Amino acid sequence: MTKQPSILIIYTGGTIGMINDPETGSLAAFDFENISVKVPALKRFGYKLNTISFDKPIDSSNVNPAVWIKLAEIIKENHNKYDGFVILHGTDTMSYSASALSFMLENLHKPVIFTGSQLPIETIRTDGKENLITSIEIAAAKKNDKPVVPEVCIYFENRLYRGNRTRKYNAEHFDAFESPNYPALAKVGIHITYNYDAIHYPRQNKVINIKTNLDTNIGILKLFPGISEEFVTSVLSTKGLKAIVLETFGSGNAPLNKWFILQLKDAIEKKIVILNITQCNAGRVDQGRYETSAELNEIGVIGGGDLTTEAAITKLMFLFGQQLKLSEIKNYLQVSMAGEISFEVNY
Ligand code: ASP
Repeated sequence: MTKQPSILIIYTGGTIGMINDPETGSLAAFDFENISVKVPALKRFGYKLNTISFDKPIDSSNVNPAVWIKLAEIIKENHNKYDGFVILHGTDTMSYSASALSFMLENLHKPVIFTGSQLPIETIRTDGKENLITSIEIAAAKKNDKPVVPEVCIYFENRLYRGNRTRKYNAEHFDAFESPNYPALAKVGIHITYNYDAIHYPRQNKVINIKTNLDTNIGILKLFPGISEEFVTSVLSTKGLKAIVLETFGSGNAPLNKWFILQLKDAIEKKIVILNITQCNAGRVDQGRYETSAELNEIGVIGGGDLTTEAAITKLMFLFGQQLKLSEIKNYLQVSMAGEISFEVNY
């Protein structure tokens, strides 16, 4: 007899678990322990489903690295007891959390599927039920006794994505997420069709290694035409700053102003890492392709390829949390650690 799959559902908060509080008229969290009362179909899976709820469920705009550490620790404690994990999370910062966890759960062998919804699970037209049910099915899916998707993913509105490739791009539609530079790991219709070639499988001989040190001395500097010298100075002189995600134009281009290049050069000399990613929704940074990015190459700005902002910022927090040498951090930024960056192909 095959073993009944076991899934741990971790409820952090977000719209999916909210109900309209009749007294205040605003959305408040409900008790998720009783989720199978709200979604009776869950019982029909025949899986062992357990739930852990945050004591105080949060709107994901309040998520911070302490929440990621808490999630990593819950997974660490329960890793050997379950076949997979489903994390219910607000959509607003879900891509940041999924990116952070993808770095923190090194050599992951089990599915960790983030999901949530745009409408509370209580409402008639909710997208939450389908998102939850399919996420559980994906977290439990096995082939030849091995998990089909042993990655940190986001499942939302019929698509399964690698978490660190996603961004929330729509505040209104049910399909709130996109993965502009990497194909979906599964498409869901009548069947769940997995894209096996796109899924990452860890080496069997490596065991999971959960790392919970993060450093938040990181910032984002988004360029815009007319950006002032004073503004750039004040960002780069932030006390304790260790790295900046520089959001440039197009394929990694920045203004040719002397003061701008000198400021960046000065920051790099002070051992601040500058990671260049594009403001465009899709595509990649190709430093040196235009005159307007050649100088960035020369002064030691690191090209961030097709990283999303969410993956860039969390990768930097993770790397600076690991007590690595600066040269090691710079090397890691240019390789894929959890499938977050690709090198030649644009999807
Ligand atoms: N503000 C909510 C959150 O991110 C939105 C949602 O869950 O969709 O927690």
